[in-house]
Amino acid sequence: MSQYTKEIEKRRTFAIISHPDAGKTTLTEKFLLYGGAINLAGSVKGKATARHAVSDWMEIEKERGISVTSSVLQFHYDDYCINILDTPGHQDFSEDTYRTLMAADSAVMVIDGSKGVEAQTRKLFKVCVMRHIPIFTFINKMDRDANDTFELLDEIEKELGIATCPINWPIGSGKNFRGVYDRNTRKVLTFSDTQKGTKEGVEEEISVDDSRLDEVISQEQKEQLLEEIELLDGASAEFDQEQVSQGKLSPVFFGSALTNFGVETFLKHFLKMTTSPLPRLADCGVVDPMEEDFSAFVFKIQANMNKNHRDRIAFMRICSGKFEASREVYHVQGEKKMRLSQPQQLMAQDRHVVEEAYAGDIIGVFDPGIFSIGDTVCAPGKKFAYEGIPTFAPEHFARVRQMDTMKRKQFVKGINQIAQEGAIQIFQEFNTGMEEIIVGVVGVLQFDVLKYRLKNEYNVEILLENLPYEHIRWIENKDEVDVRRLTGTSDMKKVTDLKGNPLLLFINSWSVGMTLDRNEGLVLSEFSRN
Ligand code: GDP
Repeated sequence: MSQYTKEIEKRRTFAIISHPDAGKTTLTEKFLLYGGAINLAGSVKGKATARHAVSDWMEIEKERGISVTSSVLQFHYDDYCINILDTPGHQDFSEDTYRTLMAADSAVMVIDGSKGVEAQTRKLFKVCVMRHIPIFTFINKMDRDANDTFELLDEIEKELGIATCPINWPIGSGKNFRGVYDRNTRKVLTFSDTQKGTKEGVEEEISVDDSRLDEVISQEQKEQLLEEIELLDGASAEFDQEQVSQGKLSPVFFGSALTNFGVETFLKHFLKMTTSPLPRLADCGVVDPMEEDFSAFVFKIQANMNKNHRDRIAFMRICSGKFEASREVYHVQGEKKMRLSQPQQLMAQDRHVVEEAYAGDIIGVFDPGIFSIGDTVCAPGKKFAYEGIPTFAPEHFARVRQMDTMKRKQFVKGINQIAQEGAIQIFQEFNTGMEEIIVGVVGVLQFDVLKYRLKNEYNVEILLENLPYEHIRWIENKDEVDVRRLTGTSDMKKVTDLKGNPLLLFINSWSVGMTLDRNEGLVLSEFSRN
């Protein structure tokens, strides 16, 4: 046990996942309000940056300072030290969004009560499942007409394949929203307008058996509530901390982030039910966060968009021990001792230099171009590497054509560097070498990023020709399969990634199944761990 145990135990590091507009930003703001990090629940990030056309890309990048600052937030609440990882959505959705989840110990899933499970939530959820981290559900916007509560839970269970356990239960929705019933205390937390959530709401708790409740909810609503509770007690999974910790059971809460209702209740329960920093797998075995020696891994690299400053920021998740800025660390992949330069941490809206940080915390360090995603840094004298970060399946593909073929060298250098940072993935046609380059991205905005950066940083202009592929699969058992002899469908294309791994691209999702049928023993995967 290290002397830092106390500090590490009070840390809670989680990501909030949702489909755009479900209320992730609003909920984060309210968390900060409770944490006292901001006085009024003002804007966490400039709203303008969240909604923009692709052509405004330069503007986004100018404001990237803001987006960087809001990508990790630290604040204190009760005795906890909380790190929230932002998962960029909208056009900002990219592979980084997935990678961020690799640094979290749990996830809060925000669902719009009138929409249910939506596309982006589904995608992000898959990554949480792969990691077996606890997942908590906040069903938001109950002040608007919501879908039937049982149907919402049913949808989560069926679509996402996770059992649910409602911790509280909503009474009505929209104009008839009266509050939530806590199944444990048997008390109703009554809903009152909190001036659009700019104040911490005055929430009143009334026992379900107290006659005062009749002043708040109609007889009809009360009957419905009692009926639903009875149904629920008989039908839903019981709360089981073990199952929650393994990511098999999601505790569900209801509320309205905008009016700041149900948020503090959620935060309190969540902090108790979620986990302190989790151990992590490395090539030397599992590393305990409480270990004395510092270690961390890089999960995201943010390029500086100012071409006069080609430096980057590498985001690291501390996995064990304590980080001290004055001490040397060892960069395992670079095989070098070094001092991490200008380590920064973000507290609400302020970015400040950190002198020390603990397991569970995220720091951003100045990167002159030496780090790659997944790299490990640890205490000098130690030498182990954390399990790598998988490569996630791109969803959009384009063929790259270079306008000026004389600049081949710059082009190859630029595109390789940008790929190394993890903004794009590049593929070559199977068996043809570098002539034809296909780029794959998770979010389409990355195409513009590529074009802009090649032009501005490498002075190379390119044309992108969109390709119709939408599904990509790595060949898991590539050593057992003769890729040249694979028979697929007519829409299938064979390519290789930067590391020479063979992959298959498909236009139609059914082609994936067809190809598996036609090639016995073939194992395909949506992630690459190589
Ligand atoms: P994000 O895209 O998930 O970050 O969503 P935002 O937090 O930006 O919210 C999207 C829109 O929904 C904004 O206009 C919010 O004001 C609104 N919103 C968020 N939470 C609630 C809520 O509880 N009730 C209502 N009625 N609107 C909400």
